[in-house]
Amino acid sequence: MQDKTNKPPLQPAPARFKRGAREGKLNLHAVIPASRVNGPGTRLVVFFQGCERRCYGCFNPDTHPFEKRLAYGVNELFERHLSGRIEGMTVSGGEPFMQAKGLQELLECAQTEHGLSTVVYTGFRLEDIRLSKYMSAALPFIDLLVDGAYNGQMPEPTLLARGSTNQSFCFLTDRYCLDNLYMPAKAEITISPDGTVTGTGFGRTLQLPRPAESR
Ligand code: SF4
Repeated sequence: MQDKTNKPPLQPAPARFKRGAREGKLNLHAVIPASRVNGPGTRLVVFFQGCERRCYGCFNPDTHPFEKRLAYGVNELFERHLSGRIEGMTVSGGEPFMQAKGLQELLECAQTEHGLSTVVYTGFRLEDIRLSKYMSAALPFIDLLVDGAYNGQMPEPTLLARGSTNQSFCFLTDRYCLDNLYMPAKAEITISPDGTVTGTGFGRTLQLPRPAESR
């Protein structure tokens, strides 16, 4: 099933993704070990670093630079952050498909080794991803792809788990349906034991958490 409403014309994928050769480590912006506003149930959320789209109204501009931030091996990420109460993993950004090989490895490990469901947010359209052998390698390991560039002039008015109404829910397996994508809130604030305050969600007033750790 796929929501095809408000789809813009097919755009060719930029050349940058072709350089998505094997990367030794993921370059991430932040990791949230448990969130309830980034997809169904309680989820591990992984934000990739690097995006060149410059969507109108993007509320995560600190994810744009293609510079080293948090370097993680796939296994290392799960060892450090995965707990037993997690239903699945959500990947967002930044642009996850700009690290195509690392993204595929992360998703494959989540599904096959940890039994997690997978949700991925991307500025690409599914059609564009299918045209690329680099990017499409990740598709077999994605339950739900939320595709399309964020548009700050079309904010999602409901509790559906997307930033703007032009983005589509592409159900690549039967794991989820639209009913699973209404979140309990638009945003979430977490106060950790050391007093660090982080925010996430789809509200424009929130910023992504600062990298929670120095490595
Ligand atoms: S794809 Fe996401 S991170 Fe990149 S500019 Fe658009 S909204 Fe911002």
